[in-house]
Amino acid sequence: MKSYRKELWFNISARRAFVNITPQVNICLEESGIREGLILINAMHITASVFINDDESGLHHDFDVWLEKLAPHEPTSQYRHNGYEDNADGHLKRQIMGREVVVAISEGKLDLGPWEQIFYGEFDGKRKKRVLVKIIGE
Ligand code: ZN
Repeated sequence: MKSYRKELWFNISARRAFVNITPQVNICLEESGIREGLILINAMHITASVFINDDESGLHHDFDVWLEKLAPHEPTSQYRHNGYEDNADGHLKRQIMGREVVVAISEGKLDLGPWEQIFYGEFDGKRKKRVLVKIIGE
């Protein structure tokens, strides 16, 4: 069995954003040389997510509006977590959108559904953060 590990770095200039990372994940898969196996992609920070959905800007806007209804950033004083930080909403948004995805690798390709794309979700940006890519297989 082969294994491969890589960290993808992000420095998003906005507080919140969704980034399609499928092209970077495909490069990792090519580098690994693995044809059959599993790929894990996880955010390494507790105010960021990795998730799979549609690459459609209206939907991304809807996600943002929905998440702001569930866990509004302001007023920051509503959250007990916010002492020297102001990112309680980011932790809650991350919990809803998830930490990681696992995708099957078949014949050297990501075995995704027809509209599935892999996204990095940032909920407390303006700093460097990492995503881990781990591939196992043969
Ligand atoms: Zn925090």
